[in-house]
Amino acid sequence: MTLFEKIIARQIPAKIAFEDDAYLAFHDIAPAAPVHVLVVPKRVIPTLNDLAPADAELVGGLFLVAKRVMADLGQSDYRTVFNCGAGAQQTVFHLHLHVLAGRPFTWPPG
Ligand code: 5GP
Repeated sequence: MTLFEKIIARQIPAKIAFEDDAYLAFHDIAPAAPVHVLVVPKRVIPTLNDLAPADAELVGGLFLVAKRVMADLGQSDYRTVFNCGAGAQQTVFHLHLHVLAGRPFTWPPG
């Protein structure tokens, strides 16, 4: 079981921001911004490299959840990030969209 499956199963507590049949959104335990939410599909896809064409709708839906959660939290400006692979700092191999808000952001990212 991935760490995020354990959060989905409520075996590990998390501050939940949104849930439906396909997705869970919860606040990151080590936030990199005042608002830092992770949006995960309940079905495990390890990384972006594992995506199949049939996953397109599921992955697109991550952004709709992000938009909804940011609206709920009163945020209109935010950054979305997928880390893909250890070299890009992915540490949990269960696809997740980082959504960060509440501070100025710089570009390029580190
Ligand atoms: P990654 O590094 O894989 O892109 O992102 C994993 C994220 O999961 C990190 O930002 C990390 O802080 C977060 N995280 C790790 N363990 C937990 C946990 O037990 N609970 C929550 N809410 N977030 C976690």
